[in-house]
Amino acid sequence: ALILGIETSCDDTGCAIINNHGKILSETLYSQNLVHLRNGGIIPDVAQDLHRACIESIVAETLSKGCLTMDNISAIAVTLEPGLPLSLAVGMKYAKHLSRRYSKPMIPIHHMEAHALIARMQHDIKFPFLVLLISGGHCLLAVVQDVNKFKLLGESMDCAPGEIFDKIAREMKLRNLPEYSKISGGEAIELAASKANNPHMFQLSLPLTDYKDCNFSFNGLKTSVFYHIHRKEKEHNIVAHNLIPEINDLCAATLMTTTRHLIHRTQRAMEFCYLKNLIPENNKQLVISGGVACNNYIFNNLTALCNEFKYRIFRPPPRLCTDNGVMIAWNGVEKWRKKIDIVTKLDSLDIKSVSPLGESLIPEVK
Ligand code: ATP
Ligand code: FE
Repeated sequence: ALILGIETSCDDTGCAIINNHGKILSETLYSQNLVHLRNGGIIPDVAQDLHRACIESIVAETLSKGCLTMDNISAIAVTLEPGLPLSLAVGMKYAKHLSRRYSKPMIPIHHMEAHALIARMQHDIKFPFLVLLISGGHCLLAVVQDVNKFKLLGESMDCAPGEIFDKIAREMKLRNLPEYSKISGGEAIELAASKANNPHMFQLSLPLTDYKDCNFSFNGLKTSVFYHIHRKEKEHNIVAHNLIPEINDLCAATLMTTTRHLIHRTQRAMEFCYLKNLIPENNKQLVISGGVACNNYIFNNLTALCNEFKYRIFRPPPRLCTDNGVMIAWNGVEKWRKKIDIVTKLDSLDIKSVSPLGESLIPEVK
């Protein structure tokens, strides 16, 4: 079987075709990132226009690169939730059009589920496993019990780590330096942090230390970093496009505190999984995914935690951590193999901008 996957939930238009063994036959990705960087953020109407302008050609290009036609395709997997409604609608409409025109079933995909399952395409990861999803719109810990059976252990109570990295990078005006002008805020902060001389110059407090659960919070951290930016700008009489001289140290402090928070919560999740026997001793695996998982400092620190707790850690290659069509097609394959969610009555399918990942468990540890 060959599954065609379509992703348009946010600001990337992605398409891929993979077979039921997870071999990628063809993939295409159009990122709107540079347009949104210029606008200082994603404007939903603009994102929708850009998806509309390229969806047809991206699918056509993916088919032709794989020397395939729609007749070769068994089903069309498409992201229907969660995401920006205007963006999601473009993918859904085009998938429905293809589905009707070529009489192919559709497979609805949950974007965060796809981020979690993609690691299984290249690695032998058995259910159940623990997943930490860190991206531009989410931060969550869940136990993945099966293809569409998730138990949510915790999530962010305010914003996501990728979101604060992007906002902090903008407030610091990092993009004004040529070497940072074409990369995401998260990548810019990682690069700047690697050049720090004194990462302990700024003291940022660790969020939620008194809460005995697996939830996250990043808003307070963002506010304190903004405070330090403004304080240093005043101190040095910084005007217009100039940056504060302590930029690298402040990026390092931001990354260190974010990482410590992620580690703290992930450790709690591991303890909870042990106490409640959610993950058997011989199956201890942590998957990390989502755009922020590209960060090597975060990955290395999580690897150390995993060594301590005897977990094996898995991370998809960077291009599969951020949004892409392959993960949607792969989630389609996982469902196809289990014969679930293969839909021919298209009227029953609709988008959902907000959609929790599985049933919530409220962990109380120690
Ligand atoms: P969601 O999946 O929650 O809907 P999204 O799809 O917009 O959000 P992704 O494409 O998974 O998010 O990830 C984009 C985010 O990842 C951006 O916020 C970006 O700053 C961040 N990011 C990318 N590379 C890195 C890195 N090396 N270090 C930290 N953050 C990074
Ligand atoms: Fe995503």
